[in-house]
Amino acid sequence: MAEIGGDINRARQVLESGGLVAIPTETVYGLAGNALNGEVVSKIFEAKNRPSFDPLIVHVSSIEQARAFVEEIPSQAEALATKHWPGPLTILLKRKSIIPDLVTSGLDTVAIRVPAHELTQNLLSLLDFPLAAPSANPFGYVSPTTAEHVNQQLGDQLDYILDGGPCIVGIESTIVSFESATPRVLRLGGLSIEAIETVIGRVEINLHSSSKPDAPGMLKSHYAPNTQILLVEDFHLELIGDTSRIGALVFNEYIEGLDLENQFVLSKSGDMNEAARRLFTGLRALDQREDIDTIVTALVPNQGLGRAINDRIKRATAK
Ligand code: AMP
Ligand code: MG
Repeated sequence: MAEIGGDINRARQVLESGGLVAIPTETVYGLAGNALNGEVVSKIFEAKNRPSFDPLIVHVSSIEQARAFVEEIPSQAEALATKHWPGPLTILLKRKSIIPDLVTSGLDTVAIRVPAHELTQNLLSLLDFPLAAPSANPFGYVSPTTAEHVNQQLGDQLDYILDGGPCIVGIESTIVSFESATPRVLRLGGLSIEAIETVIGRVEINLHSSSKPDAPGMLKSHYAPNTQILLVEDFHLELIGDTSRIGALVFNEYIEGLDLENQFVLSKSGDMNEAARRLFTGLRALDQREDIDTIVTALVPNQGLGRAINDRIKRATAK
């Protein structure tokens, strides 16, 4: 288990000496290290058991700091970042050579984001390097939205966990590429398509599912619990097995015929933001129940953050 606390000076000291710190953000907790130090970056991949073809997001304190690491910021990218940074938006930009190859998996673009969390903002402004940080979970498992989630799974790999409380967005950032004339969304996330299109007009949505993706988090099977999980359209539970051992992750209404204790409702009032915030916590809670063998879930209405929730549900339930 790692040392946990709210001390940004301790976090700074660890990071400056080449260590790894879990950092709170509004999306999920990140597993952070000095993005400019190749050795530190390779420790990040090892700690997560993450394949080296899956590039990392570089976290900076402001759009001004971002300029030091990229060749240029196209005008639409600048407009979007100006409006939504700090926030759950990651943009892909042509990198300068100061960013190590390992960070971008050899790609000539780097993923950059300014996270919206006061502790991490303060930490970034104390450091004279940016932080490379993927989500602080073992590769392929559900992302962590509390310091406790991080400690349960990666505590032994980390030097310090900066505890900033539960993540308020709860789902990873939206990734946007500006390489073609029409911007392309490569990963659905905490900034909705509607919010993006309000600022820069129409975007394409291009979510590859493959084993060697442009944008990982794009792997077909990802975000998956260990317990068997099924995506169902109608809840015909009797076909699945002993209903006392079935758990359900549902949007806003309980399923009939299933013990209420076995059901995790994402948002009783049907609030999509609340549902996104609680998604990974719900998956973990059901996954940890020894008396549940199968989790059933269904898609939520496909609007606002509902699209990102559905993306995660599809990947979590993919074989
Ligand atoms: P994570 O930090 O675990 O949410 O994962 C970061 C994700 O950012 C990766 O899985 C990729 O999908 C994406 N990403 C990072 N850098 C690039 C890049 N240069 N090109 C495309 N996608 C990227
Ligand atoms: Mg991840």
